[in-house]
Amino acid sequence: MNEAEPFTYDGGRVDPGERQNVRYTVSETYMGDPVRIPVTIINGGRPGPTGFLSAAAHGDELNGIEVVREVAHDWDHADLAGTLVCLPVLNVPAFLAQERYLPIYDRDLNRSFPGDGDSTSAKRMAARIFDNFLDPCDFGIDFHTSTRGRTNMLHVRGDTDDAGVERVAKAFASNVIISSEGPSGSLRRETSDAGTPTITVEMGEAHRFQRPLIDTALDSVRSVLAEFGMLETAVVSWPGWRTVIEDSDEKTWIRADAGGLVDMHHERGKMVPEGNTICTITDPFKAGDTTIRAPFTGLLVGVLENPLVYPGNPLCHLVRLDDRTQRAVERNTPSESVD
Ligand SMILES: [Zn+2]
Repeated sequence: MNEAEPFTYDGGRVDPGERQNVRYTVSETYMGDPVRIPVTIINGGRPGPTGFLSAAAHGDELNGIEVVREVAHDWDHADLAGTLVCLPVLNVPAFLAQERYLPIYDRDLNRSFPGDGDSTSAKRMAARIFDNFLDPCDFGIDFHTSTRGRTNMLHVRGDTDDAGVERVAKAFASNVIISSEGPSGSLRRETSDAGTPTITVEMGEAHRFQRPLIDTALDSVRSVLAEFGMLETAVVSWPGWRTVIEDSDEKTWIRADAGGLVDMHHERGKMVPEGNTICTITDPFKAGDTTIRAPFTGLLVGVLENPLVYPGNPLCHLVRLDDRTQRAVERNTPSESVD
């Protein structure tokens, strides 16, 4: 077997059996002070692949931060084979402002990869992160939540036409995988295109630590590390049922045709039979009742949390389930009355 190798980045090196907490400079503020992101690199004593875990590319999406922190600092890495690169807060300026985008001209860091050292501030930041900590890895997991005001059931996004990405996606063992290349400039697409198969994990809502989702995601990270042989003791999980759907983009979001206040009849992650009411929209007089019904039997992958809509605002992300998956979902869900 090969010898374990050091992990190197611009300005540092982590030898086998060592761990490092680094505050890594990716930019400078208006004050001329460094903008530094927290990075923990754990190089196991045994040889193996290198994987990254990243979160808060959108500064207000917090659930993933806790997943990455717990893996980095609460797990015992005594028998780790290979190297883990843990990046709990990628977008520090947005994190400090508790906003989604970089406060500098509202740039989306997650559309700025792989970055460019001679371009905009966002692309320079992205390049420092990409070149040093993402591109050297053999696989990656980037954690997100829904945009504020909405919530997502825990699911994976990745391009399952890419065998490497499919391997990470399946090992993560979520019920739902939404397959697409991802937008140009997004972390997962650019790292995957550059040879580091990467998935996005969507979980819950912005501005929260949601413990049940965090615990599930931690089990899934363990499963991915097992798939890559990094943890001898862990086994690859099977989620009980799984559906892989092709992303048809915004068409999958059902949008409001009326403005008003929304009464959602189901929670995120619930299966809604065709024709059942998903939600109703009423005005301040509780009149003008508009009923939104499921156009097909599907799973509520994403739903509104903030109950106010203009016409055109998204209400829910309903994902169509085939008959076999429907039966599997029913077998795995405790029975309850539907409306
Ligand atoms: Zn996000």
